[in-house]
Amino acid sequence: MRSDILARHDKGIRHPTLDAIRRAFVDLHESQWTPVDDLRARQLSLVSHLVSFASANVPLYAELYGGPKSITTWDDFRELPTLERSCAADAPLSRRVPARTIGLAAPISETTTSGTTGKKVVTARSLKFEIWRAACRLIEYDWARIDPSGSCLVVRSDTNILNTRVRIESKGDFLASWEEGLLGGLLAFGKGIQFQIGSREEAIAAALQEHSIDYIVTTPTTMETLIPYMRGYKAKKLFTIGEMLYEETRAKLEQAYCTKVFDVYGTREVGRVAAQCPDSNGYHVHDLNVILEIVDDDGMPCPPGQPGHVLLTSLHNFAMPMIRYRVGDIAVYGSSCPCNRSLSFVERFEGREVNRILLPGGRKRIARTISKYLQLCPTVENYQIKQWGYTDFEILIDGLSVLNENDLGTLKSLLDELVEQEASLRVTHVDTIPPLPSGKRSQTQILFTPDE
Ligand SMILES: [Zn+2]
Repeated sequence: MRSDILARHDKGIRHPTLDAIRRAFVDLHESQWTPVDDLRARQLSLVSHLVSFASANVPLYAELYGGPKSITTWDDFRELPTLERSCAADAPLSRRVPARTIGLAAPISETTTSGTTGKKVVTARSLKFEIWRAACRLIEYDWARIDPSGSCLVVRSDTNILNTRVRIESKGDFLASWEEGLLGGLLAFGKGIQFQIGSREEAIAAALQEHSIDYIVTTPTTMETLIPYMRGYKAKKLFTIGEMLYEETRAKLEQAYCTKVFDVYGTREVGRVAAQCPDSNGYHVHDLNVILEIVDDDGMPCPPGQPGHVLLTSLHNFAMPMIRYRVGDIAVYGSSCPCNRSLSFVERFEGREVNRILLPGGRKRIARTISKYLQLCPTVENYQIKQWGYTDFEILIDGLSVLNENDLGTLKSLLDELVEQEASLRVTHVDTIPPLPSGKRSQTQILFTPDE
């Protein structure tokens, strides 16, 4: 007799897509206790099919692999060249998608990060991708042991960074069901409230208290910035996403909100990757959805305990195959999880640093509007934000980059908004901006001693 979240809360609506999510969920659920060799054999069969398809139909892979390729062993797979992030970002969509797909593999949606500057990053997703993404989220809710009929407040990234007025004055958008779309059709979710990162902390805290919200979904930094406004509010569960969760932050959040934190790791390009084990603070990979590899600088697999580069392969998105994609994060395999699940076990994910600035009183804010503006600026290659005082900022840009008067004016007003007062901003050109040992560039540096 099953007692998982689906067995307890399924609304019972019949639809081919919902049935496909049910099957994928049962698959994921059973894969927790499948013998490891069987799980690996199943992954290999899925990825062999994907590699044959991509190398024959997707121009980027045909070129990368030198023509049609078939793999039959894990060694064959590990010998495939990796897909570098820059290579994926720079290639036009037409080179990253097959000329033709049918049925569940056909693209149904494109996610676009679009700024005011026109530079776009596009990810094509198939229905099968969305089905597996929904099933992975369901298993995460199952592991977090929540009742979906509870209420939830979500603070998510704003897609329109220049929409300052809406963000600041927002009292939140109310949702009849906090999971819409596919999952909302499958289970009865409770009411939801949605804010954008950058909305005022007072407004978010007021909504949490007024509506006695059960769950919060947002980044660790956002949850931390809300703590001073909580005044006795208790959550039933916190879901952290989108950046590295430090152990100190976890402890602080659990104490402040009087509940457990459940952390998940995913990416826009590949979907759900891993989630916290229900029985430890480590992470289990959704092995039937993705292949996660951790490799050293020479591309060799890292043993448990040794940090390495994350390579991701999405097993179900034939609308835009991602194979051995170097996402730019660092992770460390754990040796074994006390729960004895067969799923791959990651001790921690590192290197998802977000850009934070300091405000008086020890408050922190994500400088996302600034970093996103710079990332989307077609004339900026590399940059770094230096905070010299509460209202004193410098942006370094490298020799290839240019910021015009218009950019400066926009950046200045975004900064004023972040620090809630008039900020000073200067731009300095440098030859190069040094990367961190992980290969990532540190984008924000705080260079002053805050008041106690
Ligand atoms: Zn475990």
